[in-house]
Amino acid sequence: MIEVSASRSRITLAELDAISVEKLTGVGEKKAKGLAKVEVRSLFDLLTFYPRRYLDRTKERRIAEMDENEEASVLVTVTKSTSRRIRGGKVIVNITVTDGHSDLALTFFNQAWRERQLGVGREAMIFGKIKYFRGQRQMANPVVDLVGDKTGKIIPVYPQSEKSKLHSWDIAGFIAETLRRTLPPKGRGLADPLPMWILDEYDFVDREAALRGIHTPDSMAEAMAARRRLVFDELFRMQLALVLRKRALEATEVGLEHRTDGPLVARFRQSLPFALTGAQSRVIDEIFSDLARSIPMHRLLQGDVGSGKTLVAVAAMLAAVDGGHQAALMAPTEVLAEQHYSGIRALLGDLQVSDPSTLLGERPLKVEMLSNRTSTADRRRILGEVLLGQIDIVIGTHALIEPTLMFDSLGVVVIDEQHRFGVEQRAALRDKTDGEVVPDVLVMTATPIPRTAAMTVYGDLDVSVLDEMPPGRTPIVTRWVRASGSLDGGEGATASLDLEAMWAEVRLEIAAGRQAYVVCPLIDESHKLEVASAEETYDRLRNVELSGLAVGLLHGRMQPSDKDQTMGRFRDGHLDVLVATTVIEVGVDVPNSTVMVILDADRFGIAQLHQLRGRVGRGAYASTCWLVGEAATPDGESRLEALVASTDGFELAEVDLDLRGEGTILGERQKGRNDLKLASLRRDRKMVANARRAAIELIDSDPGLATNQSLASELGLFVDEAEAEFLMKG
Ligand code: ADP
Ligand code: MG
Repeated sequence: MIEVSASRSRITLAELDAISVEKLTGVGEKKAKGLAKVEVRSLFDLLTFYPRRYLDRTKERRIAEMDENEEASVLVTVTKSTSRRIRGGKVIVNITVTDGHSDLALTFFNQAWRERQLGVGREAMIFGKIKYFRGQRQMANPVVDLVGDKTGKIIPVYPQSEKSKLHSWDIAGFIAETLRRTLPPKGRGLADPLPMWILDEYDFVDREAALRGIHTPDSMAEAMAARRRLVFDELFRMQLALVLRKRALEATEVGLEHRTDGPLVARFRQSLPFALTGAQSRVIDEIFSDLARSIPMHRLLQGDVGSGKTLVAVAAMLAAVDGGHQAALMAPTEVLAEQHYSGIRALLGDLQVSDPSTLLGERPLKVEMLSNRTSTADRRRILGEVLLGQIDIVIGTHALIEPTLMFDSLGVVVIDEQHRFGVEQRAALRDKTDGEVVPDVLVMTATPIPRTAAMTVYGDLDVSVLDEMPPGRTPIVTRWVRASGSLDGGEGATASLDLEAMWAEVRLEIAAGRQAYVVCPLIDESHKLEVASAEETYDRLRNVELSGLAVGLLHGRMQPSDKDQTMGRFRDGHLDVLVATTVIEVGVDVPNSTVMVILDADRFGIAQLHQLRGRVGRGAYASTCWLVGEAATPDGESRLEALVASTDGFELAEVDLDLRGEGTILGERQKGRNDLKLASLRRDRKMVANARRAAIELIDSDPGLATNQSLASELGLFVDEAEAEFLMKG
């Protein structure tokens, strides 16, 4: 009689995942095959196969209430169903339906199967535009949802695909059966592993209510409350895995306890000709407190172009050197590495490092550059000196990853422009010193991504943000010239006028002693075509729009030495204008250039345009960025408008996320862990932050999830076994 006992514990998701859908009465071999086509094999898969949308019958219209040309949905019953063949073998299906009060004639062209789908007596929700014809109401090719169960006020509509050959009501039926057999009074009920305090803090419904509410809601409010909870579950599991991974790494890795109050750091700070921005001071503090701990740092530094990341990186590297260690900085391209090299050497001036083996007890701080273009002799010398600890800071490209480069004691690694390096490369750089000690790692990116997205994409890193620009900068004015970007594009008279006006302003700037970049149209199909187009633009500008000026050309197919020479001539002011492909996207720093013209700007993404624009506005002069293009799509229009409206990289990143969706941002990282069925990093931004906060709080109070075993085992459903073992051993 007394059934309730420990053995009747509630059902977990793992248990549901172990039960095949074939165990359901309604599911035979054929239906099971259909379900498998949409990745539904277990009862867990089934319960997390969520409705695509709901038909809210409380908002339903009557046929008689609908105006001509109005779009609306009505629930109808089929009263007559016929078809006829017309010329050319095409079929017209005529269906008459009623809402119990009025009739409506539906016509389907060339969809012969509709006659079978909409047999007499069938109920369906239809959506479309009403037309009146000879006093009769008609609808052509409406959207049809067969809804089956009409008892509820809110009817879930499940994704129905050709593949599965399953109707929405089939799925609703299977789910109803599963819920019936799982939930009380018949079933044991569903376990809810979420700690009570989280439920309370965020005012979530429990899991039973959530699954019942998402599949069989009595009101839209109930469906929304259910969604909130289930979205949180997905994001929370993801954040738990990321935070556990971070903590596990921290527990297994031994790092250096750097001193951050050494003489080099102090002298460097004193030597700066300007005051640090508030953001720089804050971020340096964040980094220094990481460095001082014995847990190795894994930190991401996000900062817009020109926000002063280099200086922050240098401070971190000097802290390593102060403690007798070395530092490495890796950049994604040769040009960038070289720029960092000369920039950092200039920043460092003539700092001295203490060295007891010398007469004065000091020697100059030594910085070297290593790339694939370093000569064999130099390379050999550098490798030797790095190994002996005679070189303090090495700056370079991927060449730094090569196994032949070993350090005496590598203390800090800085990686610029993370999005071009993989996680493996990050790992490879950490293994550069003999022994167990792992260097501290700072990853820098100038392509800001929204905070909540960063929490997911870089969830195993801490994030610092430089959200303040150094003072004394005149903001860049961005102007959009709505004209075809290709110069001979046969554009209309007004567009030509705008273009003419633009080139006139460019010439004025140059006459005033400034310099300009012109970025050529991006050509997706081939690199070769892109180069050809750049050459064409170059010839044209040199002879027409910018005739008489010193114009140079830079593209990716040039010999490195030619590239360097051109870049050098531009930097030294011998060239007025640099026509280039996107090779100038990252890092190029010529403060005297104040004009950026981007041709066919509508072909670039927001982040790329923002990067390109960041090449100007680096000096004291006012700068202008001209976007030339005709936005062919509403998205293109929004992109260019966003650029005109804002120079804030983080704001633009939010717009970008809105326009492109999260898929592009998640990319690589999410492969194989497809737990985001409901949650959207875009729409559910706030929930991402909540999930991360809750995950950190929980793990801080229960590091190995020892007192939250059910949560831990649920997590096991979403990560593979090896990963789970690694995560839980903390
Ligand atoms: P990022 O790498 O973030 O694009 P940089 O580190 O190259 O930016 O800095 C851009 C420019 O701003 C450099 O010329 C740098 O010397 C200068 N700068 C950096 N910090 C400050 C500051 N606090 N005050 C004034 N100028 C600064
Ligand atoms: Mg440390």
